[in-house]
Amino acid sequence: MRCRGGTSNIGIVTVPAAAACQNHFDREAIGICVECRARICSECVTKVDGINYCVACYARLADRGAVRRTEEAKATHPAVAYLAAAGLLLFTTLATWGLLQVAFPGGG
Ligand SMILES: [Zn+2]
Ligand SMILES: [Zn+2]
Repeated sequence: MRCRGGTSNIGIVTVPAAAACQNHFDREAIGICVECRARICSECVTKVDGINYCVACYARLADRGAVRRTEEAKATHPAVAYLAAAGLLLFTTLATWGLLQVAFPGGG
């Protein structure tokens, strides 16, 4: 038992069983595995997209291939965005011109 040098007279720091990690009884659990609902500490937790997994469940997920490490960015291609913008501009121009023709027939 290592002395932590505190002035507290409580020699043993005990984490309540209800809040302890399932793997480390002296560590406080910071999260719960979404798969098996196990309490896990910061050392046992593996975060995937902000979701907590315990070591065992993460290993299972990785084995199934459910966890994709590749980052598939669905970024719009610059050319597509440019064409869309140009098309919108053309449409707006034509629509405005058409409205003017309707509003002022004959051109004055
Ligand atoms: Zn789990
Ligand atoms: Zn742990």
